[in-house]
Amino acid sequence: MEIKKITDWGIFDSYPLFIAGPCSVETPEQLDSTVGELAKLGFKIIRGGVWKPRTRPNSFEGLGSIALPWIQDLQLKYNVQFAIEVASPYHVEQALEHGIGIFWIGARSTVNPFTVQEIANSLRGLDVPVFVKNPVNPDLALWIGALERINQAGIKRLGAIHRGFSNFNDKVYRNSPTWQIPLELKTRYPDIPLINDPSHISGRRDLILPVSQMALDLNFDGFIIESHIDPDKAWSDSAQQLKPTALNDLIRQLQTRIPAV
Ligand code: PEP
Ligand code: MN
Repeated sequence: MEIKKITDWGIFDSYPLFIAGPCSVETPEQLDSTVGELAKLGFKIIRGGVWKPRTRPNSFEGLGSIALPWIQDLQLKYNVQFAIEVASPYHVEQALEHGIGIFWIGARSTVNPFTVQEIANSLRGLDVPVFVKNPVNPDLALWIGALERINQAGIKRLGAIHRGFSNFNDKVYRNSPTWQIPLELKTRYPDIPLINDPSHISGRRDLILPVSQMALDLNFDGFIIESHIDPDKAWSDSAQQLKPTALNDLIRQLQTRIPAV
């Protein structure tokens, strides 16, 4: 695969990189206050779920296109860029129309080669950063296959997100980290930036720090972490979201490795 080094992507000015923001875009006020706080703390790339792949029906499935103009306004207001999940060519087209140009493919889409290929086709000819989350099941080949499909559409600013794997009876994690899978990906494709998603691995706030520290110790390139102005009132994933200030404190507690001389 032909991959551009993360330091040459032109959108991250620090390393390891951080993407932070709410699980879901909920209201103009929730988004403005969350992004405003994050921007004040120095975060430049904001996540926000617009189309939400919920496992079961009758839960909040995202606002859809109605949220896109809010995002567009806030990108200008706070000089930040948004990253959103896309699960279809329609999502890609809608996002681009509203000036959103960083995408990720969710764990439930990565499992489906038809879906991934359709998204890849809709990205052909564009130079946009795209991250591919691991599939929900611990299948490295499926993850690599999705990365290859996106790369073969010409996307060179391509990254991988480790968000853990579905399990039946893990007593600790929401999604088991099974670290050997992302590490094997890193061994085989050292040029693909590898980002950790401690929020969806942990499922609860108190695990985010130890999971992030583990990722840092294992040489991950960065993080995507959920942050909400009022986590307890969040419409999705409330137990794992951190207030922007708490996220900032957590990052300060991470012990960076001293490079060997
Ligand atoms: C998300 O990032 O909000 C999300 C739904 O993640 P995943 O695809 O990892 O479940
Ligand atoms: Mn979430």
